[in-house]
Amino acid sequence: MIGENAREIAEMAIESGADQALIVEGEEYKTYNTYLHTHALETLCDKYRPPVLLIGATINGRDVGPRLACRLKTGLTADCTALGIDEESGNVAWTRPAFGGNLMAVILCPDTRPQLGTVRPGVFKKPKRNKGGTGPISVESIQAPGKDLGTQIMELVRTIKEDVPKLEEAEIIVSGGRGLGAPENFSLVRDLAAELGASVGSSRAAVDAGWIPYTHQVGQTGKTVGPKVYIAVGISGAIQHRAGMGSSDTIIAINKDPEAPIFDIADFAIVGDLFEVVPALVQQIRQSRGVTR
Ligand code: FAD
Repeated sequence: MIGENAREIAEMAIESGADQALIVEGEEYKTYNTYLHTHALETLCDKYRPPVLLIGATINGRDVGPRLACRLKTGLTADCTALGIDEESGNVAWTRPAFGGNLMAVILCPDTRPQLGTVRPGVFKKPKRNKGGTGPISVESIQAPGKDLGTQIMELVRTIKEDVPKLEEAEIIVSGGRGLGAPENFSLVRDLAAELGASVGSSRAAVDAGWIPYTHQVGQTGKTVGPKVYIAVGISGAIQHRAGMGSSDTIIAINKDPEAPIFDIADFAIVGDLFEVVPALVQQIRQSRGVTR
């Protein structure tokens, strides 16, 4: 962990099952800086020689990963959606979408170390935290390289509002697709989400149509989510959409086409017109709570 709250996050990692944590603290690491963070990771890799390094495929992770791979003269499998072990060689088997998401490629890095990959947030379920779990946390003091860092952060301007849904952390997601037919019909999805305390997601078709901002998009080029319940409303279930939500615990699909591919992975299939089904669901939920609106 590198940064301002490194110790706090290290403790969280230990309580979530990590055996050991390394932290790099200091004023200079307060704000993410490509050069500084690459330097710190490179120094740690030289010292510990890990066989595998997993980096979150976040904005910063996607920035630092390739640069680090280049410095360490190793490969990087970017934006993985699943991981395994290749039985024959014992190497990590990194899975990521290829050819526009039309197939999932399994990639091995047999010759160089570390095996490096960025993995999408949400690909793994967060383990249950064992409060009070302990383990060694080592403080690594890594001096910033003396030479010019190339960039200097002058000011941070936050443009994303705080109320943007954290889809990756949501326990319930109600997602809408092109089947909604018009932007105003997203109110149906929002109503159902409000009743369930859920976050609102969407397919790319709905985002491309300008019905809802990109921050809500689930799928290969959107977010990867793993909620307890995922409700797909008027979404066909294209492979690129499924790449982002296929690991949800329970999938409920509402679609008028009984042949829609989403039903192949749905635990509950509701074949019907969403304009009838969703209001009926909302009404049922309200009634079950004794709300008479
Ligand atoms: P459609 O496929 O048009 O499906 C609409 C569904 O609504 C249909 O199944 C229809 O039967 C149903 N329907 C219509 N009217 C009703 C009604 N009244 N009641 C009930 N059901 C109804 N897509 C993503 O979602 N996320 C991604 O990240 C993503 N990334 C992509 C990356 C690449 C490189 C490419 C090539 C594509 C990507 N796509 C992504 C697009 C993807 O291929 C599909 O085009 C998209 O998911 C379709 O969205 P949709 O299911 O909302 O629309």
